[in-house]
Amino acid sequence: MNQEIDHGRDPSPKQIEEAERIAALHPEQQKGHPSAVLADLAKLNHINTYGSLPEFYIDQPFSCRICGKKEIWKAHSQKWYYEEAKGHTDSKAVACHDCRKARKSPDS
Ligand SMILES: [Zn+2]
Repeated sequence: MNQEIDHGRDPSPKQIEEAERIAALHPEQQKGHPSAVLADLAKLNHINTYGSLPEFYIDQPFSCRICGKKEIWKAHSQKWYYEEAKGHTDSKAVACHDCRKARKSPDS
């Protein structure tokens, strides 16, 4: 079994740089980027938002709110979170994997 799925843990400075570059692109350019993952709108109907639903997901670099570590919230992880785990699109990754593991959020 090949377990080489990239979960954005321990990204190299180069990966962070690339993710930040893509995150700053125009949405139309992001949509056409090979790392973009298209959203399945039928699976997002649990989200009742007045805003628009995402058409696609893109890798999102972020700094952990607790320890400051930089990680990347991968596009395919976002897709899973929103479409399978039924997360709300207002939810964003704020803590790195280690910190989230260390203090399991009380509402999950
Ligand atoms: Zn952390």
